[in-house]
Amino acid sequence: MKIIDYFDKAKGQTLVSFEVLPPLKGGSMADIFQTLDPLMEFKPPFIDVTYHREEYVYNKRPSGYYEKTAIRKRPGTVGICASIMHRYGIDAIPHLICGGFSIEETENALIDLNFLGINNVLALRGDARQFEDKFIPEPDGHKFAVDLVKQINDMNHGIYLDSNIEKGTPTDFCIGVAGYPEKHFESPNLATDIEYLKQKIDAGASYIVTQMFFDNANFFRFRDACEKAGINVPIVPGLKPITKKYQLNSIPRKFFINLPEDLVSELHKTEEKDIKKLGIEWCINQCKELKASGVPCLHFYTMGDVDTTYKIIEKI
Ligand code: FAD
Repeated sequence: MKIIDYFDKAKGQTLVSFEVLPPLKGGSMADIFQTLDPLMEFKPPFIDVTYHREEYVYNKRPSGYYEKTAIRKRPGTVGICASIMHRYGIDAIPHLICGGFSIEETENALIDLNFLGINNVLALRGDARQFEDKFIPEPDGHKFAVDLVKQINDMNHGIYLDSNIEKGTPTDFCIGVAGYPEKHFESPNLATDIEYLKQKIDAGASYIVTQMFFDNANFFRFRDACEKAGINVPIVPGLKPITKKYQLNSIPRKFFINLPEDLVSELHKTEEKDIKKLGIEWCINQCKELKASGVPCLHFYTMGDVDTTYKIIEKI
């Protein structure tokens, strides 16, 4: 079923959904099921599975020189989606990125998804490669997520890259895209970022999932600004509780977001052993307020931490 149909069917009730990462290479599906099994109690209609492009590693050669090798540390996104759908009978949403893909490879990946009966996809640009200071698309790949959305939308209209295909079977993908309540870090300001977000919606995306945030005021401001800009699709807030003190610095560094002053001062006062409890309480309060404001779904970045996610949802 399409993600937006779940939102319609819920008739104003707030759903919950989860995002999981493929296990590190050498891991197994049991790692994913261990995270998801307990969370099925909350009846998520869908699960997102992230996509991770290759990274560079440096291996020391007998000569003493280092050899640079590209490896994918977390492959398996599509297989995991198929496996989740098979085990739980719910939808799984693969994340698809522009980085590392030519448009031909993207088309073939979408054909695979379509043949597997996976009809939802989150279309993203992806980040710069490790050791590169900006995102560099493949020579014949997409530069921005909007271009990926356009390609998927074309396929939804039976238009494939090979112009000799006259009556291509239309796919039926429901396309989600990313939004940033505190703006994307490369964007000069929020208004410009929202203009580009609108382009993704106009190109065929049907809903938005946001970057994590810890101050609901940022989400509400973003949602209002989207509405003003003529974006009328469902906006799903992304949530992640703080569980460790080091995240005070690692989260802003990694995700380019701010932590509110009152949360930071509470975290400073709290001992390491009690941080998780504080993070859970903060997230519960965020969820309650978001739910009351009518969000269609609360989307949890689980990062493999079942216990924390479980404790939050059972309270909301
Ligand atoms: P875009 O929408 O292309 O935007 C990128 C930047 O370009 C923004 O600053 C935007 O303002 C600007 N821009 C957009 N269009 C134009 C244009 N036409 N002209 C000029 N500037 C433009 N990354 C992964 O690698 N794998 C994942 O699984 C993954 N999942 C994610 C899930 C969510 C919910 C979120 C919020 C992010 C996720 N990311 C993932 C990270 C994401 O790939 C990065 O944040 C990336 O830097 C931007 O992706 P985007 O799709 O928002 O890009």
